[in-house]
Amino acid sequence: MKKYTLFNNDGQKEMDEEEYTQWFFSAIHGHILKKIENDFKHKQKEITNEWIGEVSRKHPKKQRSCLYNDCNIEPIYSHSISKKSVLGNIAKNGYVYMPSIDKDIMTLVHISNASIFPGFCCQHDNDLFQKLDNVKNVDFDNDFFTQLEIRTLSYEISDIKRTIINLEDLLEKLSLEYETLTSSFLQKFNNEFYRKEVSYTGFRCSESSINKIKTTILERIENAKGNLRFLNQEFLCSDNVMGQGFVIGEIIPIAFSGLCSIQLEDHVADILINCLPYKTQTIVSLHFSERDAHSIQSFLSTFNLTDDNSLLRLIETLAVRGTRNIFFNIDYWNSLEKHIQNMFLCDFKNIEKSSINEAIDYSFLTWNWNNKESTT
Ligand SMILES: [Zn+2]
Repeated sequence: MKKYTLFNNDGQKEMDEEEYTQWFFSAIHGHILKKIENDFKHKQKEITNEWIGEVSRKHPKKQRSCLYNDCNIEPIYSHSISKKSVLGNIAKNGYVYMPSIDKDIMTLVHISNASIFPGFCCQHDNDLFQKLDNVKNVDFDNDFFTQLEIRTLSYEISDIKRTIINLEDLLEKLSLEYETLTSSFLQKFNNEFYRKEVSYTGFRCSESSINKIKTTILERIENAKGNLRFLNQEFLCSDNVMGQGFVIGEIIPIAFSGLCSIQLEDHVADILINCLPYKTQTIVSLHFSERDAHSIQSFLSTFNLTDDNSLLRLIETLAVRGTRNIFFNIDYWNSLEKHIQNMFLCDFKNIEKSSINEAIDYSFLTWNWNNKESTT
């Protein structure tokens, strides 16, 4: 049997072939890892960029079936904010502005594509939300506010489900890429570099970046699942949802709808919010779990809810720190001073880090903006 002698700092060591092979591969393991990691870094960027493009599509991929219990029909794209009654009210030639998620700019979006989500089939969408899309005579009664709550909740549930599917998809793509890179590199290495009779198969990727990435993505998936459970428990399957609605006789140049979180002293409270300009009136609705009622009332008590200007401060605070599902009238946005625009966009980008429990310290809205325009 062949004998090998290894010289190192401790002197010399005799080895048989198997020991030598093991020593050799453990010595080059670090280099192999580095090479694979380097190749993966480029691929990771490519895959992630492609993925971001896919998840920020205005037409999110459809879910398999309607969100309504036991309905298996394919969903249509529903508007989470009424296209005709609300978005049409602030649109210019059919377009509105929405803040871009990753850049400090506004992007143009046609109202046919604004705020849409694949939630319900055509029939259930019509049945569930008929009050919200009535252009002529809207009756702001209890049913109207309940329909608002259900639609916002459905939008959020559909959005979280989509997030989970997208993250699982990203995880699968990245893992597969790492596996492919590793096996093709090892095959090449074994073919060309080392002796034919011994092949290197013991590559461990426990210290590789893919493991950290896996952990991060799995954490995000768990968080999303937790949010889904929360919405199911506290809103969908609960009889203890409380609502507060305001109908204000003036209108604003924005519309928004979604779930926002208020960081309170000891916990986070979640509110489903809607702020919608209907014809000549603005609807503000807040829905929250009974558990949070006390804290939310105390937050609301920092505003004078009988005063329109104080209500406008509340709307501004919810708009900046509330939801990503928000749309502006184009001319109104362009008429704002640059530093106000920048403050809004900066706050919007940091929406996850901000806390809503106090009013913002600048103002970007005025009542009846369109009357003002026509008289000047
Ligand atoms: Zn259905």
